[in-house]
Amino acid sequence: MNRARFWAPFALLFLGCLILLPTYSQKKPASLLILNAQIADGSGAPLYKGNVRIALSHIVGIGELQPEPGERTLDAKGLVLAPGFIDIHNHSEESLPKDLAAETQVSQGITSMVVGADGDSPWPLLGWIRSMQEHPAALNVGTFAGHATIRQLVMGDDFKRDATAGEIRSMEQRMGQAMNQGALGLSSGLEYEVGSYATTDELVALAKVAAASGGIYMTHIRDEADKSFEALNEEIAIGERAHIPIEHSHIKLGTVGVQGKAADYIKVIEAARKRGVDFLADCYPYDAWHSNLKVVVPDKQYENPKSVATALASYGGGSHITITEFSPNKSYVGHNLAELAKANKLSEVEMYIRLIREGDAAHTEASIIGQSMIESDIKAFYQQPWVMVASDGGIGSQHPRGAGTFPRVLGLYVREKHWLTLPGAIRKMTSLPAQRLGWKDRGLIREGAFADVVLFNPETVIDRSTFADPTALSTGIEKVFVNGVLVWDAGKPTGARPGFVIGRKGAALEISN
Ligand SMILES: [Zn+2]
Repeated sequence: MNRARFWAPFALLFLGCLILLPTYSQKKPASLLILNAQIADGSGAPLYKGNVRIALSHIVGIGELQPEPGERTLDAKGLVLAPGFIDIHNHSEESLPKDLAAETQVSQGITSMVVGADGDSPWPLLGWIRSMQEHPAALNVGTFAGHATIRQLVMGDDFKRDATAGEIRSMEQRMGQAMNQGALGLSSGLEYEVGSYATTDELVALAKVAAASGGIYMTHIRDEADKSFEALNEEIAIGERAHIPIEHSHIKLGTVGVQGKAADYIKVIEAARKRGVDFLADCYPYDAWHSNLKVVVPDKQYENPKSVATALASYGGGSHITITEFSPNKSYVGHNLAELAKANKLSEVEMYIRLIREGDAAHTEASIIGQSMIESDIKAFYQQPWVMVASDGGIGSQHPRGAGTFPRVLGLYVREKHWLTLPGAIRKMTSLPAQRLGWKDRGLIREGAFADVVLFNPETVIDRSTFADPTALSTGIEKVFVNGVLVWDAGKPTGARPGFVIGRKGAALEISN
């Protein structure tokens, strides 16, 4: 008997085992046990030590659990395990389909983003939903139906007027259609071109349609500057008349005329809440906004010295307006209006008008950062239990909030400034937005919830994005799981795409044909 013949049966046996082995191991629970975590469960309760078991897409156990034979384990080494962050105001509806890994979002611990904010949403909604179902992203996504989107569909370019009764009926039909397709509610942006011409009655009519299907009303109100209080009162009236829960987008007091009045603003909201208005708000953690030069002058008289002077004064002068992009003259970039005026021996008003003219001549407009919110107002808003964290950013945002919002709150407002406790801040990123959206099984670490979880280091978590480098990734977010699948691991995306398109109850929308 030669050697080959002698070994042949053993080799066959060995091969057989190799084939059988995967079949055998599939019978074992394909679960993961996360050990030694400090659990911030999302409710706002104090942190506690524990182990968490994930099986398939859900959390199936919490406590002093021991690994089962052959079970995968992950030693959290005392890091904080929290529910995945839910960003209720995100502008990635166009960029997410092109960047399914969504690195700038997942690296912040965001596991669900909600798009269609400020009145602009994908349309047709069903086409967008289907394409996200066919090409899933690394994280979950849900969408609002945009008021301006629907208004323009019905009125075309003739939108600078009241809508007729027939046009409002037609908008109501489209709103109802969007709710049937899985929209989370109605969003509006009443400071912008199309939405600004809508009457309160028109908004109430559409909000009633959203309310009838269990949707909410999320709004960028009519004014965030000198007329902030009037705009707030209109928003509350819409909520009361349509009997609909309100999400107030990016709460702020954005001009000198209203700065420092957070306490009064909060009083109006508290009074409405006491009357039974279901009012929640979100806030981004920055004192500066990002826009174009022309938004500074609300009456659109860009070359009228009087209008420009009033406008600049309302933002506290030209030193609060910095040029971030201007293709006709790159030497302006990085300087504020006061500096440019001085260097060119002009007044601030003259300098503004010069920038408008140079921009118009080149068919462009300067991009600017306006620094016009004050820290005491931001702090007062954040300390309200009905204010949550949201970015108002998204993939490719030119404002650092797009890549930095959630780690910035944890690093700056929790660790450095002590404005918020860690469990309190986590609640504002998880169960509070989930409550607002009616997402029952997300936003909490508990048995039976979806396994959207984030593991982060509370000592190091911080944003790195700046106005000069707005897409720089945050640090300190170690691991991110979406529906039980690891999508972010030690500073890198894993390449997995387990994201669902989520509807009003928080589960994946059915894939329709
Ligand atoms: Zn907005």
